Amino acid sequence: MTLESRLEGIRARIEAACRRSGRKPEDITIIAVTKYTTLEVAEEALAAGLTHIGENRWQDVKPKWEAIGDRAVWHFIGSLQTNKVKDVIGKFDYIHSVDRLALAEELEKKAAARELSVNVFLQVNVSGEESKHGMEPEELEEFVGRMGEFPHLRMAGLMTMAPYDADSEAARPVFRKLRELRDGINAKGLLPYEIKDLSMGMSGDFETAIEEGATYIRLGTVLVSG
Ligand SMILES: *Cc1c(COP(=O)(O)O)cnc(C)c1O
Repeated sequence: MTLESRLEGIRARIEAACRRSGRKPEDITIIAVTKYTTLEVAEEALAAGLTHIGENRWQDVKPKWEAIGDRAVWHFIGSLQTNKVKDVIGKFDYIHSVDRLALAEELEKKAAARELSVNVFLQVNVSGEESKHGMEPEELEEFVGRMGEFPHLRMAGLMTMAPYDADSEAARPVFRKLRELRDGINAKGLLPYEIKDLSMGMSGDFETAIEEGATYIRLGTVLVSG
């Protein structure tokens, strides 16, 4: 099966999930996660009409990034060490993994030096699994309250990862909680602007994530080999 035909099946599943939840397919953006694949696969994704690419390690994405450049919108979805910020700044349009103040400070410093504005998602460990990155839900409000210290970062929204080997229904409360956290931030007016985006849902659980309000779904396996 080609990526294009797999994408057709995925789009049908997205539409069905939208119908079930009264949402519009155009409000959901697929991020093609091309980690572990080649430049050819990334090119195939672009040719099939996907424009958002997600990667999690600069060493691996470098050749793809250099070949594709601004033909794609780039999403950094991996955990990001502070000393690696210099590699990704100015190259990725969105950073999905901001989970600690030290990282926000470093992103701000590097973005300010280059007069860039960087879109960030705050990653929240909703499931509470020890192995997961992300701040605790209880830490979120204070973090958001400090976003004003980072004028070169624009908060797009929240990101989470559901437990690995749970079936997709088990992921539902995790996704729902992320949506409630977003709505709480907006209701309390913690930022001078509203946040809209929820980055949640992967190959095994994207339909549930859509039903619970995902605006970005991050698809690897189901797209490149499913
Ligand atoms: C690898 C990865 C994905 C894609 O996972 P699949 O299950 O292959 O769709 C999504 N999000 C993050 C953060 C990842 O690391």
